[in-house]
Amino acid sequence: MYLVRRWVVRRAIFFNALYRLCERAILGLTPLWRRIGLARLDRPFAFLERMSKSFLFDCSMCGDCLLGSTGMSCPMNCPKRVRNGPCGGVRSDGSCELDADMPCVWVDSWNGISKTGLFGRYMTPRRAAETTRCGKSAWLQVIEHQTVAHPKSDRVEALGEAEDFARSSPYPPNPFEALLSSEKFVVTAELSPPDSANPDDIAARSSHFEGLVDAVNVPDGSGANCHMSSLASSLLLRELGFTPIMQFACRDRNRIALQGDILGAAALGIKNLLCLTGDSVSAGDQPGAKPVFDLDAVSLLRTAKTMRDSAHFMSGRPIKMPPDLFLGAALNPFRPPYDARPFRLAKKIAAGAQFFQTQYCYDTARLEAFMSQVESLQLHRRCNILVGVGPLISAKSAHWVRTHVPGVYIPDRMITRMQDSRNEAKEGKRICIELIEQLQTIDGVSGIHLMVHQHEKLLAEIIQDSGLKRS
Ligand code: SF4
Repeated sequence: MYLVRRWVVRRAIFFNALYRLCERAILGLTPLWRRIGLARLDRPFAFLERMSKSFLFDCSMCGDCLLGSTGMSCPMNCPKRVRNGPCGGVRSDGSCELDADMPCVWVDSWNGISKTGLFGRYMTPRRAAETTRCGKSAWLQVIEHQTVAHPKSDRVEALGEAEDFARSSPYPPNPFEALLSSEKFVVTAELSPPDSANPDDIAARSSHFEGLVDAVNVPDGSGANCHMSSLASSLLLRELGFTPIMQFACRDRNRIALQGDILGAAALGIKNLLCLTGDSVSAGDQPGAKPVFDLDAVSLLRTAKTMRDSAHFMSGRPIKMPPDLFLGAALNPFRPPYDARPFRLAKKIAAGAQFFQTQYCYDTARLEAFMSQVESLQLHRRCNILVGVGPLISAKSAHWVRTHVPGVYIPDRMITRMQDSRNEAKEGKRICIELIEQLQTIDGVSGIHLMVHQHEKLLAEIIQDSGLKRS
């Protein structure tokens, strides 16, 4: 099946035309289907779909088919069930973060999309799969709703038309949002939440950032390891006078818990939310944990935006007081498929993202190539991009990070430079400061996001040595 699936993607033009022909024929016979009764047709339709689509696409009958917008590569074959991919963990050779022997389904999807030219469809945010539709006919759903969820145009220039990019929040910009709108080069840093229930641990770690950063990120079970929760850490940071950016991953909560936590965070005054799909549980110290991935980052963004702007939950139930949120998302321009990354950015903007923080940047040439694509699509006018940087601690640890941390690309020349130096820690710091200097000269970069696990003091030193100290 796997070989057939990849064979089909290589012939995406033919199969896309066939798919659309079937779609039109089925829709054209709607009066007939209605006369027979849609409920009666579900079993025979589902049987036919299962027979044809399982063989050709490895279809798992999610009941809400996206093949017409994914270059004929079924996203339900993604182990994280990302329906708006690719995630940031794709390996350098295009294989899956979780299975080195399987090409990422979204890399295949991009190849199919590039052949068919349906870029507008690719960047349109897709809703999460509904478990109640699993095993049912997707064709009948199209007949029932008489809508095919395709944008008006597949032209690349139509990116701006595909969704309302305008800020439609009922709330005025919060201070962090206002800062990003100014000309100031913004600095955010990551705090590693402690393995402790002691609030003083947050105070001790964050004290290094005083007067140096504009906002502090709190990871949400980063690397799929358990630490103090992002929500509690963010609240403690807020009480200490910092502006928290609460990271929020889909890995550990379903849509009910996610929406409840969004309301809870906003009620506690935490307004900056970074929406993530999340690392696989296999990356952490409890690989036997159950991964949830009910939503992905794009559908989470869309949910949060809907809660804020339209004051209702995903179900349509109204919210009395909508959450005041400034929405962010992650970005990894350093992983394939490189040409798809600006479209993924556009998709996240369309879903509601207002600012982005990238994965670690150790390759400014790759970043510049990405930023020039972003500029040519005018996407830099619709969001703020903060580039991730962090010091390498030693050549050995850099090698380990490159091999074991999903989505991090460290070029050989960086590791060689570390190995050749007399003091590896100092060299890592020097490299980081050089990168920060270079990033300040790249058009479209609004600031930097500093990260390194459990080394807040080192990050503070780097900010001071870079001359980026806040006024
Ligand atoms: S690399 Fe990420 S998006 Fe691609 S198939 Fe694997 S988990 Fe899914």
